[in-house]
Amino acid sequence: MAAAIGKTRLSILLVAVAFGVSMAVEYLAPSIAATALTTMYRLRGVEKPPPEVVIVGVDDASLLQVGPWPWRRSTVAALIETVARQHPRAIALDVVFAEQKDPAGDRALGDAIRRAGDVVVSAQLIESAGRGIDSSLAPERSPTQLSQWLMPIPEIASAARAIGHVHAAPDVDGVLSSVQLSKSSSVGARRWALALELLRLASNIEAAPEEIPSALQVGPYVIPILDRSDTPSLEPASLQRANEMRINYAGPTATFPTLSAADVLAGKSVASQFTNKVVLIGATAQSLGDTGQTPFNHFGGLRASGLKMPGVEVHANIYSTIRDRKWFRPVQGLAAVALTIAVLIAGAIFTLRFSDAMQLIGPGAFIASVPLAGLVLFSEFAVILPVGSLLAGLLVLVPGLSLGRSLLASRDLDRQLARLKRTEQELLPVSTAFTRVPAESSTSWLPRTFDWKLQTVAEVTDHLLNQVAVIDRMLRSVGNGVLLADREGRVIFSNPAASELLRRPREQLIGEDLESLFAAAESGDKAAEPTIAIGQAATFEIEISRTPARFLEVSVSPVESSRKRGENEGAVVVLADVTKRKQLDQTKSEMLRLVSHELRTPVSAIQGLSEVLTKFGLPPKDVQEFGHTIHAESGRLLELVNRYLDLTRLESDQQKLQLAPFDFAALAEEVVESYRAIAAQKEVQILLKDRAPAIPLRGDASLLRIAVGNLLANAIKYGPVHGKVTITIGVTGTLAELTVSDEGPGIPASEHDRIFEKFYRLRREDDSSTPGTGLGLAMVKEILTRHGGQVSLESKEGRGSLFRITLPLMGH
Ligand code: ADP
Repeated sequence: MAAAIGKTRLSILLVAVAFGVSMAVEYLAPSIAATALTTMYRLRGVEKPPPEVVIVGVDDASLLQVGPWPWRRSTVAALIETVARQHPRAIALDVVFAEQKDPAGDRALGDAIRRAGDVVVSAQLIESAGRGIDSSLAPERSPTQLSQWLMPIPEIASAARAIGHVHAAPDVDGVLSSVQLSKSSSVGARRWALALELLRLASNIEAAPEEIPSALQVGPYVIPILDRSDTPSLEPASLQRANEMRINYAGPTATFPTLSAADVLAGKSVASQFTNKVVLIGATAQSLGDTGQTPFNHFGGLRASGLKMPGVEVHANIYSTIRDRKWFRPVQGLAAVALTIAVLIAGAIFTLRFSDAMQLIGPGAFIASVPLAGLVLFSEFAVILPVGSLLAGLLVLVPGLSLGRSLLASRDLDRQLARLKRTEQELLPVSTAFTRVPAESSTSWLPRTFDWKLQTVAEVTDHLLNQVAVIDRMLRSVGNGVLLADREGRVIFSNPAASELLRRPREQLIGEDLESLFAAAESGDKAAEPTIAIGQAATFEIEISRTPARFLEVSVSPVESSRKRGENEGAVVVLADVTKRKQLDQTKSEMLRLVSHELRTPVSAIQGLSEVLTKFGLPPKDVQEFGHTIHAESGRLLELVNRYLDLTRLESDQQKLQLAPFDFAALAEEVVESYRAIAAQKEVQILLKDRAPAIPLRGDASLLRIAVGNLLANAIKYGPVHGKVTITIGVTGTLAELTVSDEGPGIPASEHDRIFEKFYRLRREDDSSTPGTGLGLAMVKEILTRHGGQVSLESKEGRGSLFRITLPLMGH
């Protein structure tokens, strides 16, 4: 905000300064405007002059052939007659015949002029000495008369249709850029310009020129005039309007068709050369000195070159300016002020608007467009823009603004850097304080040097990178899994422990949505899914695998925004493996169940029986029976405790597997044989079907013996008396397979999973007398899981049961 205000103020200030410069150039250095104008002339080039204009020039060849100037009046008369014979539209004589010569010649010339008809002759206004005209031409001028007309002699003045003035005063740069269409002597005698009179004759304009506001009306032509209020005037008569008009030169010297006077006199000209033409007769020889600078030959200073333009051609140019209505419309006064302000403001906007490469190209193009627009307007519409002063203003404004903008930006950068340094020091204890560069920005409004900036940037970057690296290493080294999530809950950081715990590589975790991540991580079909809301602290447990069981504790902590209270920038998620704790919890509750349920019943039975035994004198038969019962119950207790301990030891990983290669077929057969005696007691027949020759396995033989034994024991225990138990030992694919099937009551499908849980026993009436711990199948499952094998059950109620165990063969 502060920067924006600074920029606006700066722009206004610079536009004002540039405006001042523009105005100074416009009014104090007119030569710049004049130079701009001549440049545009040269860039514009030549325009076609009006076809009817012909110049008859007293050139160097004519001087050689006819004799030095002035010629005899009769010669001039002959020249006019030659021209008049072809019936031109009008003739202008750019020669002031002010002195009486031989009377015959004077008369002849007067006659020739009269006969020729539409002829305009010249008069010259003699102003104060030194204004371009030789003062010797007006020897009898009284000292009070500052200017007076040098008129043609009466014979000639009376013969001509009109007398025009041939006065021309050069501009600051020596160029004849404008003409005063009317001139007045000190006593108020006024004459119109020669070219204007010529136009009136050629176009048959009878009416006298009429002065209307800021224009001069001559017949159909309304000529804009630029009379300046500062035209020097010393006497009241000079207050008459000068009707100054800018001359729009068609081209450099000799753009108009020019015939040599000698040729015309010698009759060399083609017959219809002057028919219906407007003929200007005057001196064109450079040696005669009646020449002036035009924008086309004025290069200024040492580089001036080209022929100066003879006065007669200047008149031709004045004629063509009016005839073709090619008058200039200079933008000046209030319009120039308004235009300058508009262009400068546009320039400021252009300069400030662009960035990158355009910050150079944009203003550059804008500056270049000013002379370009000036040229186009000049060439196409004859409008003269104050190009010089506009350029001067822009050349102050644009670099000034660029510099100012850089300074402001540089100062802002200082502030930002100072802020960065302050914040950086508050961030973490790992940061060491800056020593080299002071944190506070200088109090001066001037920006600091680039060296300071570079040094500061380097230091801050170093420190910050260092800090980031330290934090990164810390997070990576944490034993727990750490995930960082952004505001939308997407993971943006994951440490190696998190990958490990979630069993997913870092690349997969980055960008993952937290909610779906944990929904997917939680294997199984638990309905109660934890929902993570970024912004709320939460802790929950998820089970990420069943076999082996693994549990994670997930703690989500929102990260509060440093900028806005109550708004979050993301969350930190910490993952901890709580499998051990979960297992311990489970063991604890099992122990509780064991003690409170499975152990209490037999112990209280033993206690009751022993109490009866000790308190009452019982007959020996009862004593023996009670003793049996106590023995059996305590035996069952012992078995329960032993089996539980075995299983727990196995589960808690305390018992390491004694791995060794062995023949599974032989092992299974051995177990089967060992159960034949028990089976025989219940008259159960054991059939060993499909015994494969040898099945090489690697595993803990004694544990696998227990597993097979438990299945066999259950088949015998739950099968009917006189029943059959069938065993198969074989290989399917890369698995060793053993099945034990019986003809017992079977197990309902709904119980298939549960019978493998610890202490789980079916509530069947027939089984109530069957002794058991509910740990046999849990043991089978644990042993097979530890060996990478599986146990499954096929059974229907009332149709017997088939237990199948599979184990990977050695080397698979
Ligand atoms: P138990 O010590 O009770 O036999 P187990 O874990 O071996 O404990 O078996 C769990 C339950 O599964 C038993 O209580 C029994 O109801 C059922 N069961 C196991 N084997 C069989 C089978 N072959 N036929 C029918 N039911 C069985």
